[in-house]
Formats: sequence, C-alpha cells, structure tokens
Amino acid sequence: MFLPRLIALFLCTAATLSAQGSGSSLKIETRRALPADDTPQTTLPDTATLPRVLPPNRKSVYSSCVTTQQLIAITFDDGPDPVLTPRLLDLLKERHIHATFFLVGKNAAAFPEVVRRIVEEGHEVGNHSWSHPLLTQLGPESVESQLRRTHDAIVKACGTAPLLYRPPYGAVRLSQRTRIEKTFGYPAILWDVDPQDWKHPRSAQKVYDAIHKQTRPGSIILCHDIHETTVAAMPATLDDLIARGYHFATVTQLIAYTTPPELMGPPAPAPASLPSIPLADPQPSQARNDPAKTDEAKREKPVQSP
Ligand SMILES: [Zn+2]
Repeated sequence: MFLPRLIALFLCTAATLSAQGSGSSLKIETRRALPADDTPQTTLPDTATLPRVLPPNRKSVYSSCVTTQQLIAITFDDGPDPVLTPRLLDLLKERHIHATFFLVGKNAAAFPEVVRRIVEEGHEVGNHSWSHPLLTQLGPESVESQLRRTHDAIVKACGTAPLLYRPPYGAVRLSQRTRIEKTFGYPAILWDVDPQDWKHPRSAQKVYDAIHKQTRPGSIILCHDIHETTVAAMPATLDDLIARGYHFATVTQLIAYTTPPELMGPPAPAPASLPSIPLADPQPSQARNDPAKTDEAKREKPVQSP
C-alpha cells in the first residue's frame, strides 16, 4: 500500500520483524514524524506516577480524551491469549509501556496466570463481557450477568477490580449504558484509532499505517491481542509512536490526567448518618453551580468492529 510522503517531515526507514509462526521475515516500512504542531505546552510527568483512580466528574463514555499533551492509551481486546498476550507483554515491557487490556471473561477464567502477569507488570484490566455478545440484543439481566461474571473472574485471577468496560463491537444502548454505570460504576470506553486489525486478511503493515496516521494527543487506540498480525505490528508501531514523542498511559490514567480540575463538581455530600459538626462561623448556604451536564447520548457513536 502506497502512502503519501510528507516532504521534509518524515523520515522513512525500514524495520524488519519476525513474522509469527512462519519463520519468514516481515518488512514494515516505518514513517517517523519529526515533532511539529503538537509540541507539549507543559512537561508531561512520568506516566508511572499518574493516578490510577477515575475522577468523580468523569464522563460516561470516552472515545478519546482532550489534551494537547503527547499522551495516549493503547488498548488490547478479546484476550487474554495464552501465547500471543505473553509475547505482547514482552514487547511492552521492553519499552516500559503500560497498556489497557479489555478482557473477555471466559478467557480470563481460562488463563488466570496471564491476567495476573498483565496486572503485575503495571497494565490496566477492563471488562469486555463474558462471551463477547452484541449487548444491544440482550436483556438487562443477561447484560448484567455478562459483566458480573467477567468482573468476578478478573478479581479472582488477579485481585484487581476493573474500573472500565468496553462493549463488544462498541455497541451499547444508552439505557443499557446508564444501567451498567449505575450497577458497576464503569464508564464505557470506545476508541478513536481503529487499525481494523480483526479484518482478514490484515497485514502488519496496514495495522502500522492506520495507527501511525490516526493517532493524536489523547487518542485511545483499539487493538486485539488475539491476532498474530497485531502483535507482529507492535514493535515498529510502538517504536514509531515513541519516536514521535508519545507517552503511554492506561485509560484510567489518561482520563484522570486530562480531566480539568475546574470542571470538578461539588464535593459529595456527607452521608446522612454522620453527626453534623457545627461551624464556628456559619455561612449562608453557598450557591453551587452544577457543572453543565453534557449530553452523553449525542456522543454515543455506533461503531461496528469487534
Ligand atoms: Zn472485542
């Protein structure tokens, strides 16, 4: 596939990767952009130190985050796979990259040792349903069962509860999303970069090209760690993003870091059971403006890919 060459901004180099299984070599033509328009306005802290707690004023659904910083999140869905996921973890470890894995519950239950390794190496785990159904075709009890079984399997495997979910195929009704958020506390995580690595046949070059072209500050990249071509594309893809100045956060870190403090809502009211503490200098009730509520329904985008 021929790509337009951006004169003077790109250096083209070639990288050779070992193709999975065949023993043949896979050549990926890489394009490395010099820093240009997206110069960070402030210094980005070490992503290892970023908080891993969702802010109270988080949104209900994200396909990307708003930031001028070179901060992104890469996500891997549908695993864990007993062979490919460990291979991917090695690649991430070599590059000190923390990713987010949206796990299918039945796979997490089948390969708990891989789930443990994912968490032990600093990655985030999210809920991707038990058996990857189209949630829009399920009733509320089935949806809850899909997510509950997966939540429990992940906790059982690694001791860490997921904070996020990604609906299979990116498809979820607003009423379902509202109910899931109320039951599990999860925001829905979609994506803005889709290399369509699940398509067959799909070359590692196409995966690389799509991610190279689509990634922006604040992007959430969708990949699948159950496909050999995806894992084969990762060394060149990750090295390209690093060379372009991108830093990798988990999805929760990206949300937390990019949520402006000035949009924080009022603090949560104290539980009614707590005794009231008289103030030395009582103030009249302070008018607090609720932050404008965004219409999440309008942001919901129907996406049709696994
Ligand atoms: Zn999926």
